[in-house]
This record gives sequence, C-alpha cells and structure tokens, in this order.
Amino acid sequence: MVGLVNAEPPENAGEYKNVLIFLETRQGKLAKPGLEMISVGAAIAHKVNEELIGIVMGNKIEGLVQEAGEYGCDKVIGLKSKDLEDFRTIPYSVNLSELITELKPNILLIPATRNGRDLASRIAVRSKTGVTADCTELDIDPAERILQARRPTYGESTLAEILCKRHRPQMATARPGIFSVPERDPKRKFVSEIRKTTIKKEFLKKEIVSFKPKSTLDLTSAKIIVSGGLGLGKPSGFKLLEELAGEIGASVGASRPTVDMGWIERDHQVGQTGQSVRPDIYIACGISGKAQHIMGMRLSKNIVSINTDASAELNSISDYIINEDLYKVIPELIDAIKRRKSGEKKPAEAPA
Ligand SMILES: Cc1cc2nc3c(=O)[nH]c(=O)nc-3n(C[C@H](O)[C@H](O)[C@H](O)COP(=O)(O)OP(=O)(O)OC[C@H]3O[C@@H](n4cnc5c(N)ncnc54)[C@H](O)[C@@H]3O)c2cc1C
Repeated sequence: MVGLVNAEPPENAGEYKNVLIFLETRQGKLAKPGLEMISVGAAIAHKVNEELIGIVMGNKIEGLVQEAGEYGCDKVIGLKSKDLEDFRTIPYSVNLSELITELKPNILLIPATRNGRDLASRIAVRSKTGVTADCTELDIDPAERILQARRPTYGESTLAEILCKRHRPQMATARPGIFSVPERDPKRKFVSEIRKTTIKKEFLKKEIVSFKPKSTLDLTSAKIIVSGGLGLGKPSGFKLLEELAGEIGASVGASRPTVDMGWIERDHQVGQTGQSVRPDIYIACGISGKAQHIMGMRLSKNIVSINTDASAELNSISDYIINEDLYKVIPELIDAIKRRKSGEKKPAEAPA
C-alpha cells in the first residue's frame, strides 16, 4: 500500500463537494469510457450524499447533455462552442479548469483514454493537485470523503491504494473497460445547463483541418472474444482463430508477445498495456495467463482456456478448461458448429 501518513486535508476542504466527471465525446457522440465514469462516479457521490455532475464539451451538445442525464448524472453542464467541437488540449483544459475553480468538486474523474490522460495531467497542474492515473478500482471513505484510488503496480502484481489528502480536487483517471456503462433511462430526472463559451484565439494554435478516423478495433464492446497466445506457434494460427470467430460472431484478441512479434495488429492486444475487456465469453487459446494478460480479461463472464499445460495460470480463473492441443480442438469445434448450423437451417435434410 502506497500513501502519505498523517497528511492533513487543506483548511478549505469542506468547501469542496460533489463528484465531477468528464464525458469525453468522439465525432459528436458520447464515448463509452466517459459513460463508464457515470456508474462509478454516481456510486461514490451518492455514498456521501453528494451529486454526480457530468461535463460535456463540444458544439452540438444538446442531445448529448440529455443523454448524459438519462445515463445517471444528477446534473449535466454543457460547455458549448464551435471551437470545442473536436478535442484540443489547450481549449479543453483551460475551460475545464475554470469550471473546477468555480464548482469546487471534491473529486474529478476522467477516463484514461489518450485524450483523457492528456487532459487530466494539465488540469492537475492548473488546479495544483495530483492525479492517480489508470485506476481499476475507485471508492470513497465516507467519514473523511477521501477518494480511495486503486491501481495495479509492480507489473500488475500489487494493487496500490493512493490517497490525495492534502489537495482538492482529488483526481483520478479510470482505465476504460473496467467500469460498466449504466442502464439508460429516458424517464430519469436530472438538472441540466448549457453555457455558451468563447475560446481566446491564443488557445487555438492548433487548427483541425480534417478528421481521418483510425480504424481501431474496439474489443471493449465485444460479447465474445477468441484470443490467441504464443501457443499458436506461428502467425497463421490467427487465421484459425479468425475462422472460429467468424462462426460464432466473435472478435479476435491476442496476448502481447504475439503482437510484439507482428503476428497480429496491436489493437487486438488484451491486457495491462492493451485493452481491458469484459465479454460474455472469452476463449483463450494457447495463453498461459500471466498477470499482465489476466488484468485485461479477468472480468469476462465466462472464461474458456484451451491449453496443453494443465497447470497454466489462466486455468485457475477459468470456467471451462480444455487441456488439449488447440490445433486439435479448434478445427473440431469449427466443424461441430458448422454441422449444427446447417442442421438448424435445414432440419428436413438432417440425417435420421
Ligand atoms: C510491463 C508489462 C506489460 C505487459 N502487458 C501485457 C499485456 O497487456 N498483455 C499480455 O498478454 N501480456 C503482457 N505482458 C506480457 C506478459 O507478462 C506475458 O509474457 C504474456 O502475457 C505471455 O503471453 P502468452 O500467454 O501468449 O505466452 P506464454 O506465456 O508463452 O504461454 C503460451 C501458452 O500456450 C500453451 N501452449 C503451447 N502450445 C499449445 C498448443 N498447441 N495448444 C494449446 N496450448 C498451447 C503453453 O502451455 C502456454 O501456457 C506484459 C509484460 C510486462 C512486463
């Protein structure tokens, strides 16, 4: 456990209240990592009878503000400007910092996406506070209203609890894919406010001429993932996994060494330095289950491990273990699925 001992809160700590979350937008839509902040942010705020306030920044944000309230924010503040249409570090951090000075939140949560990390560090400097990055657990000590920000450390072998006792707001970024997106309820009651804002020219040094989306694979929303590790033995092993994935409507994941060796693109990587996923079914093929991999998939509802080694670490958290050569199991599985599908489609032609 890492922490400061006997750190006193600032004298004006009592002036700070509520939990503020930054609801990141992408291409005019609320991004999933921001929505994930609503569930954890609301749990923390309501535990100490405070409010969850969502911040949406952008141009055409009326619908997004409504959406954020329906997902569970008690209050939503929209900052509206043509110059906030796309994420730019300086205008976003200046505006959000001004809002923090005004609202004095006890806690500020930001998703640990590329833009979120960029924003959080700048806000922390401007607000003269610290930020606990990449948290996987967040809670609050209700007596002291101290954020308990936990994140893996020492190669994911230890969970560190980091407390920010001396400064306000207490800030954390949260790893995408760890917290769930709450149910959207169109009847939910909330307060909203849209403020038009102007951005000083000096903050607009970067001009966004056009936007070319990178075709990144979003494994965080996948319901089924078929994931391959070094046990595949060769790059073409992923072809077999793609075939299985195609049959069952799954996405393909990978362990880091297979990515490092160029067997598959990096956006397929699951784990500490890849994506954190929580599908209904995670089928690990030839993956040993080192801590850094488990970190990214342990929240899967059902885990299937196909491994020749009965003592593979992953087996200890698996619901189903197939202790067999994947090159024997997977073709048989594909065959069985195909036979079953054709049987279901043409029941009259099925053998008696
Ligand atoms: C800072 C840091 C960050 C990291 N981040 C990540 C990360 O994000 N994601 C990640 O995955 N790793 C990450 N790693 C690497 C991690 O520590 C492991 O090295 C890696 O996960 C192991 O990959 P693997 O399971 O594919 O390979 P191995 O550990 O080599 O396991 C291969 C498995 O395949 C089995 N096998 C072999 N042949 C067959 C067969 N024919 N059929 C069935 N099973 C077979 C073996 O029994 C073995 O269990 C990180 C490491 C560090 C230090």
